[in-house]
Amino acid sequence: MKICIIGAGIAGLSAAYNLSKIGHEVSIYESSPFAGGQASTIKIDDFEIEKAYHHLFVTDKAILNLYKELGMSKDLKWYKSSVATYSEGKVWKTTSPFDLLMLSLIPFKERIKLILLSLRLKLLRNWKKIENITAYDWLSNKVSKRTFEIIFRPLLYGKFGEFYKNIGMPWFWAKIQTRVSSRNYKFQEILCYPNGSFSKLISKLEKEIKKNNGNIHFEHKVTKIITKDNSVESVDIIDNKSSKKNVKYDIVISTAPYQVLDKLIDLDQNIKNSMNKVEYMSAIVMILTLNNSLSEYYWLSIAENNFPFLGIIEHTNLIPKEKYADNNILYITNYVENDNKLLKYSYEELIDIYTPYLKKINNKFDKDWILEHKFNKINYAQPIIPVNYSKIKIPLKLSINGLYSGNTAQIYPEDRGTNYAVDLGNKITNLIIKS
Ligand SMILES: Cc1cc2nc3c(=O)[nH]c(=O)nc-3n(C[C@H](O)[C@H](O)[C@H](O)COP(=O)(O)OP(=O)(O)OC[C@H]3O[C@@H](n4cnc5c(N)ncnc54)[C@H](O)[C@@H]3O)c2cc1C
Repeated sequence: MKICIIGAGIAGLSAAYNLSKIGHEVSIYESSPFAGGQASTIKIDDFEIEKAYHHLFVTDKAILNLYKELGMSKDLKWYKSSVATYSEGKVWKTTSPFDLLMLSLIPFKERIKLILLSLRLKLLRNWKKIENITAYDWLSNKVSKRTFEIIFRPLLYGKFGEFYKNIGMPWFWAKIQTRVSSRNYKFQEILCYPNGSFSKLISKLEKEIKKNNGNIHFEHKVTKIITKDNSVESVDIIDNKSSKKNVKYDIVISTAPYQVLDKLIDLDQNIKNSMNKVEYMSAIVMILTLNNSLSEYYWLSIAENNFPFLGIIEHTNLIPKEKYADNNILYITNYVENDNKLLKYSYEELIDIYTPYLKKINNKFDKDWILEHKFNKINYAQPIIPVNYSKIKIPLKLSINGLYSGNTAQIYPEDRGTNYAVDLGNKITNLIIKS
């Protein structure tokens, strides 16, 4: 079969690897000049690092198996994570259930309630029972107003902006599942980060696809999927020199977000209605190389509504900084609506806005600490999955013969992630083999 794959992110690369391995003629078209999509990396000094912070959980079986299959298991390194929350002018350690018990920010009774809530959600197998309620409604009914305002509202608002009341409860349920399962017998969270970054996996997949006679065309954007008699016929492509071509294919797999897919092909109205129910947030991610450490934690969530960012992920508090020439690398992350004015700001403008808030976290912080910076804006970074999504979720195999879609909004009830992108690639491969 001649197969076109739209997108060289982890989902597209995984599907292409599987399908080329079993003899299909695979071509990937990627609009950007690099592979890896949201998990792609950049160089800082001599090191590759993700444009947006990435780690894996113990439960990420699909991607861990892919590493194994590619003979790369030795690259998977596991580290003890450390988590804290900034609230009411202070950094509060929230790494373990014991830390939660000591969290004097909220009354003792509420701390016990939080631990019991996590346990209850962890033990809940049938997430469909909580599918018809938003995380906002469920959580605000379970804890006191103060606990909700301090812990959950900033979390939901920070991640989902103006859509924070819309996200379905399965999102929160899935977070608890992965985070609790990633704890060892001492309740210590253990996270995985591959030696040499995710770039090694991405390069290996590219190499394997080419070895299996597959092609990857960078800076080639698919602009239209053309059908005939309800079957895929060809795709229109435009390259970076604006030259256009039309190529015939038996199968097209799109890994592009719904808003993009919607422009590529006129799908059935029911499918369009479902696609339109999913909104996306963009991410603004700043990477700073510092000559000092900002905090002692890997993951610092900001639980204050007036902060201009959502969290600080200090990469070198997870991975030893000796691996990065003894420098401290941290990400400042922010999810914003697609029309948010922060998306228009330059690095200089944003760092000026961020600096007073970085000083609140560590009053010694000074812009002189910054040795290097990188700055990324990521579109379609986080889909917002509404309530009762299982009833409207679009199948991976669409009703047009030969057309498949596997994107971050088709992962459910789990939240999107590289593991589920690999899983999408695997599932689409199996559907193609079956048909
Ligand atoms: C801030 C942030 C932090 C994250 N942290 C983690 C983490 O810790 N752990 C984890 O596992 N995951 C994490 N993720 C999620 C993870 O990166 C994604 O879920 C995964 O990489 C998505 O892969 P994908 O292939 O489905 O989509 P994408 O990576 O979005 O790939 C789709 C590709 O399609 C291309 N494309 C789109 N339209 C066209 C077109 N018309 N023609 C040609 N090409 C096109 C795009 O350029 C893109 O490269 C994070 C994501 C973000 C944004």
